[in-house]
Amino acid sequence: MSGNSIKLSGGKLIALPKLVAQWKRNLQSVPSRLIQTALGFTDPYPYLDSKIVMMLKSWAPSWNSRRGIPTMGRGPGRADPIPHTPTPKRKQVINARRSKYKGILAYGIRPMYGTYDARQEEFHEHALTTRGKLTATKRYHSIKPHRIRDLCFSNGGVVGFADSTYPHPEEWSLDSISVPLSRTTVKHLTYAFSSPNRVAPSCLKAWTERLGIDINFQAVGLLYRQRLLTPRDFMSHFKNILHRALLTRTKLNTPLASHKCRLCKRSRENFTHLTNCSHIAPLWDRYIKLTNLTFTNDTDRLCTLLLGVRASGASLPPAHGDLFLILWKFIIINFTLAEIERKPFDCDSIWKSATTRYLSKANTLTYRIGMKQMRADARGLKLDVRHEKSLLQPLGTIDSAGTIAWVDQFAQCLPCAESAAGVGTASHETSP
Ligand SMILES: [Zn+2]
Repeated sequence: MSGNSIKLSGGKLIALPKLVAQWKRNLQSVPSRLIQTALGFTDPYPYLDSKIVMMLKSWAPSWNSRRGIPTMGRGPGRADPIPHTPTPKRKQVINARRSKYKGILAYGIRPMYGTYDARQEEFHEHALTTRGKLTATKRYHSIKPHRIRDLCFSNGGVVGFADSTYPHPEEWSLDSISVPLSRTTVKHLTYAFSSPNRVAPSCLKAWTERLGIDINFQAVGLLYRQRLLTPRDFMSHFKNILHRALLTRTKLNTPLASHKCRLCKRSRENFTHLTNCSHIAPLWDRYIKLTNLTFTNDTDRLCTLLLGVRASGASLPPAHGDLFLILWKFIIINFTLAEIERKPFDCDSIWKSATTRYLSKANTLTYRIGMKQMRADARGLKLDVRHEKSLLQPLGTIDSAGTIAWVDQFAQCLPCAESAAGVGTASHETSP
């Protein structure tokens, strides 16, 4: 069925109202006398049309003119209830199959498994395969019913007597695994055995210790998503900042090494200093001004600028988070070059590189929407750009034609703003 029409078996489409009209017409064309007759009501006309009799006989061979179509008698009629048995579930089938197997304790010590015929008090001994499955033997024993015990199965094999098996394989699980013992695999066992020695990644511990707060690492992890950015954009923050791999001077242990910042040459060069250094600060000021961030205290500022998550645990809006990672990427590149190649740390060019990169990533959305449009057209669906729109929030928005409109504040920061200076509007046409 598509839209307002229904597909017939021949592949022809028929409009719904038309089909309903046809159906009504068919119902009306059945003679009302025929309905009465089929139900077995007394026929107001003593002589039935032979054509009608033939028709009724062909529908229901057992029809007769007095009782209509019979519902009683030999077979059940349509209105008579018939016994209903629900289809058993897989587990019920398995349990039913297993329930025929019983066990006894032979000679008071040796468990023996098999099937039991209670009427003849005969126990048919079964042997266990290496996988715990039961196979019939040719041995039969005469056993009194009180000695017969139920069995406990796990993973398709017999474990032992149901009343003396502990822990029950269906009702117990290993620590830190949410799967019952009967369905535990090698993978689960490996996890369980190694869990006492497993330690949280040291960077998580280090950051928690340094900042002295409970950091929402879940939110930090969600920054590194390939929604708009690629690993090329976020990997440098991931490795250098989150995993603390950036070689700051305080990490150097050689006696002559200076621990003073390579840029300002005043404070100790550590991770905290990267957010406070007077040479990097202009970038953070711009970022904070653009994103309208307000910090409750120093810890909040540090946590937000270093890890991209608020001290309260709240995450940054998507566009702010993406720009944050790109900005870090260029800060890290230039910070490293300042040491290795003595390249001056130029905030303006870094900001320009970061915004250009962000812009080029945002422009890919135009292409993506174009592809989506084609797909939607082909399937006769409506184009939905809510996801693309949400990615640019709150710095800009994108319409279904793929045109991005940046907010004034961000449009002024963009490299193209210089060429379009004086226009003042936030609109920024993108090329596919
Ligand atoms: Zn510094």
